[in-house]
Amino acid sequence: MELLTPGPTPIPPRVQEALLRPMRGHLDPEVLRVNQAIKERLFRLFDPGEGALLAALAGSGSLAMEAGLANLDRGPVLVLVNGAFSQRIAEMAALLGLEPEVLAFPPGEPVDPEAVARALKGKRYRLVAMVHGETSTGVLNPAEAVGALAREAGVLFYLDAVTTLGMLPFSMRAMGVAYAFTGSQKCLSAPPGLAPIALSAEARKAFTGKRGWYVDFERVAEHWERGGYHHTTPVLLHYALLEALDLALEEGIEARERRAKETYAWLLEELKARGFRPYPKASPLPTVLVVRPPEGVEADRLVKGLYAQGVAVAGGIGPTRGQVLRLGLMGEAARRERYQLFLQALDRVLALT
Ligand SMILES: *Cc1c(COP(=O)(O)O)cnc(C)c1O
Repeated sequence: MELLTPGPTPIPPRVQEALLRPMRGHLDPEVLRVNQAIKERLFRLFDPGEGALLAALAGSGSLAMEAGLANLDRGPVLVLVNGAFSQRIAEMAALLGLEPEVLAFPPGEPVDPEAVARALKGKRYRLVAMVHGETSTGVLNPAEAVGALAREAGVLFYLDAVTTLGMLPFSMRAMGVAYAFTGSQKCLSAPPGLAPIALSAEARKAFTGKRGWYVDFERVAEHWERGGYHHTTPVLLHYALLEALDLALEEGIEARERRAKETYAWLLEELKARGFRPYPKASPLPTVLVVRPPEGVEADRLVKGLYAQGVAVAGGIGPTRGQVLRLGLMGEAARRERYQLFLQALDRVLALT
């Protein structure tokens, strides 16, 4: 199966092989050294500044999304919503009693910093939350501009980096981010099951809320900074994540960004020639290509037809449900060879419909 969904992504052989290493205990000194190495790599990718908490939570990206909110000392929280994942943040914040307020933008359009500036002037928020790259619509949001506004207003900035970290330039310090996270199975091309997080030194003072035990950052730090016991970690996934982080850093973020952008541009032209149209109206996200199928072709039937041809892609979710194909260009998925196979399969499916 050619795995071209916007997560999970294909994993390279070196990462796959790491899963076959013999099992060790979660407090084994060798495993604790692996954890330190993971943190060192995450420090370079997140660039959170000295004194930050770095860890890989045992769960998917949504765990890190929830953990960031569960540890916040208090609300209210301003959530910038322009797709399914930012909507998920708002839902979690409500369940956690953080008085979320939604500032909504039309799907397919990026967050507008001017609207954010007005909202921040109108009320004193504790935190503003945004998704860097909206996977449901394929839109990249302006992290630097929103971060600057948050800094000016003295509000903490929470950024979902799931579709960007490891593939696009990223710096928490430069963007003024207090908390950021990703999932191992997206741009890093590791197996699902770990959620790398970074909490800046300054933000640690504000993330003292205790809504939960497993997600409590103090307990997470007990393991990830002091090597103590919190819970049993998925050791083999740690091995695989470290290999994936090394591969990303060896290739370099600039080269990975170029790989994604070149594949995106080429693939979009190929799809336009077949009657597809891009979904985003502005600010396309280079790691997830979202397209509307040609007139009269049903998106979800295309997804099923492609699967029957051995190619896994995704249909729409949230605001794009039933309307689009979503093609992953994160990590190992961003390769022209893979999408050549996709196009061959697509042509067969379109000939059948
Ligand atoms: C995939 C994704 C997540 C996390 O989803 P999980 O399935 O829990 O890993 C969060 N935000 C965005 C933008 C995503 O694409």
